[in-house]
Formats: sequence, C-alpha cells, structure tokens
Amino acid sequence: MTVTELVSYEDALATYEPVMGLEVHVELGTKTKMFCGCSTALGAEPNSQTCPTCLGMPGSLPVVNAVGVESAVKIGLALHCEIAEWCRFARKNYFYPDMPKNFQTSQYDEPIAFNGYLDVQLEDGEVFRVEIERAHMEEDTGKSTHVGGATGRIHGASHSLLDYNRAGIPLIEIVTKPIVGAGERAPEVAKAYVAELRELIKALGVSEARMEMGQMRCDVNLSLRPKGAEKFGTRSETKNVNSLRSVERAARFEIQRHAAVLGAGGTILQETRHFHEEDGSTTSGRIKEEAEDYRYFPEPDLVPVAPSREWVEELRAGLPELPRVRRNRLREEWGISEHEMQSVLNAGVIDLITATIEAGADAASARKWWMGELARRANEEGIDPTALPITPAQVARVAALVAEGALNDKLARQVIEGVLAGEGDPDAVVDKRGLKVVSDEGALGTAVDEAIAGNPAIADKIRGGKVAAAGALVGAVMKATRGQADAARVRELILERLGVTE
Ligand code: ADP
Ligand code: MG
Ligand code: ZN
Repeated sequence: MTVTELVSYEDALATYEPVMGLEVHVELGTKTKMFCGCSTALGAEPNSQTCPTCLGMPGSLPVVNAVGVESAVKIGLALHCEIAEWCRFARKNYFYPDMPKNFQTSQYDEPIAFNGYLDVQLEDGEVFRVEIERAHMEEDTGKSTHVGGATGRIHGASHSLLDYNRAGIPLIEIVTKPIVGAGERAPEVAKAYVAELRELIKALGVSEARMEMGQMRCDVNLSLRPKGAEKFGTRSETKNVNSLRSVERAARFEIQRHAAVLGAGGTILQETRHFHEEDGSTTSGRIKEEAEDYRYFPEPDLVPVAPSREWVEELRAGLPELPRVRRNRLREEWGISEHEMQSVLNAGVIDLITATIEAGADAASARKWWMGELARRANEEGIDPTALPITPAQVARVAALVAEGALNDKLARQVIEGVLAGEGDPDAVVDKRGLKVVSDEGALGTAVDEAIAGNPAIADKIRGGKVAAAGALVGAVMKATRGQADAARVRELILERLGVTE
C-alpha cells in the first residue's frame, strides 16, 4: 500500500482508537558478554571477539554475567517493577545464521522484573503513565551483511557475511502492557516513552543507550479498535525502529494504514513490518502466527537467578534521582517554564548547564550561554554540545567576567570564540585578544566628551529632554572603544554630562 492510499490522521482518529505496545531492546554497557568472557568493545575486527560459548560449540558452557543481572535489576527497580525472587533463563529455539547456537538464551515466563510503570511527560506538561509488563534478560545476535545487491537487503544479494562479535552481548528487553487511552496522542506518547526510557537508562549508567548506534531499538506494536469497542484489534509489529522521531512516525503511519485497511473492509494481518526512514512508511515483513512456536524450555546449562532481597534493597537505595523528577526539580531551581526546559532537553545541554552552575555560574547565564551561543555552534557543526572544546568551568569563568563587569556580552562571545578556537582559558583569551571592557573612568569620560563634541545636534536634543536620542551617542562611544565599554555606564555618563535625568 502506498502513502497516497492512507486515511488522513484526523479521519482515522475520528473512527478508531489506537492501542500500542512498545518493546524496547537495550544493549547493556558491560565489559564482557552475557554468558562468556568475550569483550563487547565496538569496532573490533569481525569475529575477533568470539569463543566456543558465544559461537555455540558443542560442550561449551555459559556463565551468567553478574553485572548484567545487576543492570537488569536496576532497570526493573527504576521502572517500579517487582523483582523476581527466583527466575530462570529459557531457550528460544529458532534457526537463523546470525545465531550460531540455534537458540537465543532469553527469559520466557519467568522474567527478572515485572509489573511496573514509567511516567512520561508530554510536551504540554501532562503526565502519562505507561505500564510495564516485564523486563527480561537475553542476548544479542550476530550481525549479517548482505553483499552484492543494490539495497543491502538479502534479496538480490550474492552472498552474506556474518560477524559474531555482537552475538551474546547482553540485552534487556522492556515490554509495555497495551497502552490505551492515549488517543490521538499515541504517537507522541510512544516517542515520549522511548525518550524517557533512554534518559532513565543513561541515568542508571547501565548503557549509553545511543539509538543511532543500535544500542537501543524499539518495536512498535499497533492496533486499532472502533471507538467504544472493548476488544483489541489485530496488531502489526514494526521492528527495530531506531530513532525517537521514527518511533513517532511509525506509530502515526500505522494508525493511518490500519484505518485505511479496516475502512475498506480489509483485515489487518498479524505481521512484522519494516520502517523506512526516507518516507516514514512501513512495509510487510514476515507473517506472525498467533503464538510463534519457539519451543521455549528452561535453559539446563545455567543456574537460576535468585537475587537476595537484601541486595535488591541495596540497589534500590542506590538508584539515582529519576530523570523526570530531576528535570522538574531543575526547572524550579532555574525558574524556567516547561517549554523552556523542553528546549534545553532538545538541545542536549541539561548536564552541561548543571555543571556550569556547579562551577559557580548563576542559572540564567549558564543557560543563556549554552542555549544561545554554544548549542547553536554544536548544531552548525553537527556535533553533540558535550563535544565542543569548551568546559562548563570555562563557561562559568566567562559568566563571572560578565558579572563583575570585566566583559560585556559582545566581548564574552568573542572570548568563547577564542576558547573554542583553542586559544586557551577565558583569561588567556582576554589577555591575548585584549578584550576588556574599558572601565577606566578617565578613558571612558574622554570618549564620551568626544562623542558629545562630535554630535552637537544630538547632544542638544538630549539636553532638551529627548533622552531616547542618547542611544546614538552610546553607539558612537561603543564604536570608539571597539565595543569594549560597558554600554549602561556609558549611557549614565552621557546623561550626567548633559545634565539630564531619566
Ligand atoms: P511478541 O513477542 O509476539 O512481540 P510480546 O507480548 O512480547 O509479543 O509483545 C507484544 C507487545 O504488544 C506488548 O507490548 C503488548 O502489550 C502489545 N500488544 C499486545 N496485543 C496488542 C494489540 N492487540 N494491539 C496493540 N498492542 C498489543
Ligand atoms: Mg515482539
Ligand atoms: Zn564468547
């Protein structure tokens, strides 16, 4: 089905109610794999980080990665889940070349964490609770590269290459309960949920959760039911969506597509679908039966996982402040609106601003420099603001120089430019470039006198009470001092000299 045959989003929502289910896979940042000691470092030669266990050789035995279990428990606790007192791994049997064991070690009916929720904040500030069904431990598969075709897909390829470095890297799969009641905001909820989950995972320090690197990916399940109906419709499952924007687009597209199919009297197939970045569409993948028969059975080579209650409580006590709570706290401390905080988040500078304040800057100036000058620079260069060659301490120093009157904003921007250009610390840049506000009253007074003498007509206007005309003289003084004067002080001096008060 092509895009032109879709039902408009508004029309779809007028008739149907969307139901969503989000399955998110997070690759943990452990040093070694989930069931063997192989390294998880990225970028190594293909197949150099493998061993008999992750290659599924006969006779090899897996051992559970303790940090993997700890990370899973932390995630479960942060999602307000119950933590199993005792649970097992299970074999999920299927054949695919990227999985040399012919089964994936996963968890089935005994997940380590279950029954939780995550509150997500929508753009207008409303909080929506997404209920969590389960979070379970499993392992990643290898990576296949299909060579010889035009599209990189297996169709049309002449051969495929397999890299098992990724096989066995720990994954946590987090599955929501069916999300109902979001209505037209379903795509926004999906995006906000994945965004919140990503922040949470990062705050826990269990993964960098970089979606563009596949460290976090989302399957979007979606179905429609006629408004007012009880029974869920048949779902489609759009696999491996790997950006926040794509999660939103995929949900939106599926709503429009389902509505078109249902409206024309058709049936939705329970199938997996692929998402296409170029036009935001999805296309059919493989048909899914009601319950795929993976012949799950408990993994006989691994002992059960039985996290002691003491340990779980210890981990709970050590949890960091949840991102949403922290954001709301900072928003109040900084005295900014929901909308302004959203911009800070979008710019990716919340931690940088926090660090700048910790280094001594006041909230308003820390936010001003990171949001204005620096976020723009990062954006222009297409890099993350954290990658800019300036530290929060340096930004705090610039803010301090402005606060004590040694720099005005214009000069401060030049200092920042200098730091970014590698000319050293703010003070060094000030010295080298000679960027100091002319605060020597004598020099300033001379400049003011010259400006008055050079513009007698304007001076007369001001004397006559047209105080607004002072701007022109301030401009003249600023020009004469190459922007290095404190404009407010200059204005004061001009009015003083001309004997007018405001
Ligand atoms: P599978 O492994 O087949 O994908 P899961 O139960 O792991 O099944 O995940 C299915 C996801 O879809 C869950 O998030 C679940 O809440 C959600 N879901 C189940 N039924 C529906 C439905 N009819 N419409 C939308 N989402 C659904
Ligand atoms: Mg699924
Ligand atoms: Zn291995």
